Amino acid sequence: MTLALADFQPAPQVIRPQTTVTGPAMPFIDAHNHLGPFGGSWSEKEPAAFFDHLSGTGCVHYVDLDGGWGEDVLDDRLRRFKAYDPDRYRVFGGVDWALWPEEGSAFPEKAAARLEAQATRGAEGLKIWKPFGLTVTDDQGQRVGVDDPRLAPIWETAGRLGLPVLVHVADPVAFFDPVTPQNERWEELSNHPEWSFPLPDYPPFETIIAGFANLVSRHPNTTFIGAHVACYAENLAWVSALIDACPNLYIDFSARVAELGRVPRAARALFLRHADRILFGIDSGPDKATYAIYARFLETADEYFSYSADPVPGQGRWMIYGLNLPTDVQRRIYHDNAAQLFGLKTAAHQSGPSSHKAAKTERVL
Ligand SMILES: [Zn+2]
Repeated sequence: MTLALADFQPAPQVIRPQTTVTGPAMPFIDAHNHLGPFGGSWSEKEPAAFFDHLSGTGCVHYVDLDGGWGEDVLDDRLRRFKAYDPDRYRVFGGVDWALWPEEGSAFPEKAAARLEAQATRGAEGLKIWKPFGLTVTDDQGQRVGVDDPRLAPIWETAGRLGLPVLVHVADPVAFFDPVTPQNERWEELSNHPEWSFPLPDYPPFETIIAGFANLVSRHPNTTFIGAHVACYAENLAWVSALIDACPNLYIDFSARVAELGRVPRAARALFLRHADRILFGIDSGPDKATYAIYARFLETADEYFSYSADPVPGQGRWMIYGLNLPTDVQRRIYHDNAAQLFGLKTAAHQSGPSSHKAAKTERVL
């Protein structure tokens, strides 16, 4: 008898507490998200619809990283969403790497000047997307390393302007391995072959992540946000050491609850040790169901539950465990760290579970 892997959907028979969580227990800042094309199609809707929806989630401030898709995208988001509700929304700018061949050796300085112009128009951070370190090339057609010293003007300009730089480089470690039966992301990579970055066409994961560590440590006056658990959620000891070594580094854990939740003791230790340096964000639009899963992960001691609403979770066939974080740590991660980093004065700052009615927990055995 054989069974296709895709058809295997075992129902756990273990009896364990199951907490119904409908959303974060307190007002929160989503520090890593998008309005589209990632994050749904909110950018095509009226801002009023977006902010109405946001109010129903408990999110008091939303960071949209999409400004780097182009100057026109940035201007559209500023004109429509930022202008509509400046206290609840900010958008990051970006670097247009495609200009390097035509601008030659002047590219880094010109990119820094463009960033300054974006900030003048209203961009409140810089987002670096994952082609950096993977496929970005210079005017000679050579792949550019994440720690390429020629790019210093960009990072130093961000620091001078007080713009945090949110960096996503590399991807899950398994995306750099051959797609064999031993690859723990086999199903995901077989569904998305374009996410596979094997040698020799791409640099090793280790090269990219070492470049990221160099980048952050060489620019201490610039604040970096290491997206997706500093891009190395599989190695929390490495992440913790980098946070220790670099006071200018924050991390977010968007799209990495699956990784963290399968090593709950190490993840909890990381969150307690670095409670002031971790930002909340979900990277999949202002999705209420996803906010609820993240809240269950942070707030409860539930065991062996799915990190996904899908019957077959997308990032690997395993279950996760809640971190049961103390309330004061939750508050820093949900809200206070980002409020401090972004200089937010208007967002709700409360000493306990808020009047936000969405959050409700209920335990059943
Ligand atoms: Zn993202």
